[in-house]
Amino acid sequence: MPNHPHTPPPAPSAPTSRSSVPPTVPPNRPVPRPAPTPAPKSGAVSWDAFKVIVIGTVAALLAALGYVLTSGGGVANDGGAKGEGATQSAPVSHEKYKNGELPHSALTSIGNGHQLAKKPAKAFKKLAKALKAAGHDYAVNSAYRSLDEQKDLVAKLGTLDDGGRAAKVGTSEHGLGTAVDMTLSWEAVEWLRANAGKYGFKETISEEPWHWAYVN
Ligand SMILES: [Zn+2]
Repeated sequence: MPNHPHTPPPAPSAPTSRSSVPPTVPPNRPVPRPAPTPAPKSGAVSWDAFKVIVIGTVAALLAALGYVLTSGGGVANDGGAKGEGATQSAPVSHEKYKNGELPHSALTSIGNGHQLAKKPAKAFKKLAKALKAAGHDYAVNSAYRSLDEQKDLVAKLGTLDDGGRAAKVGTSEHGLGTAVDMTLSWEAVEWLRANAGKYGFKETISEEPWHWAYVN
């Protein structure tokens, strides 16, 4: 995907004619800061629609974690911001394993080396297909996290309780095998907000538009 070697202008701008902040963002939620990249010319390739919205400290965290954001990233994946993946609602009832202790037999690949619990994985594949069909690209950056992976994240980022940025071990929705983090354009986020529910997925953490969890 193309890089834009232009010098960023003072005003952040969105890749399309839409405003830089999606109109669907509730007024009282923290709005991820658009990247200070120039607006591509109209008619630019579709990846131009994928401009980084959430960067800043999150990107730094990602770098620290070894995540690599694609240059076309819209909504950056987490790594720990706001206790990334911290369960804010009751765990889904179909889970029969403890957080972070799902056996391999209970997990299904959703691509890019990531896995979800079987039922969420099946639903996610349908969701992802529909997302693509609607013209939106995405990249899965994280999904199921074992206890060890959660511990690793806490070791790197610290827990929220300690002023860090990672969800406490054993409380992440990622440990349930129900949550997926994606790199998304804002258009894709808007599409998900309108359609993900049909596939059982919900934006469960308001500060983390990259984080979608299966809640059915
Ligand atoms: Zn997440």
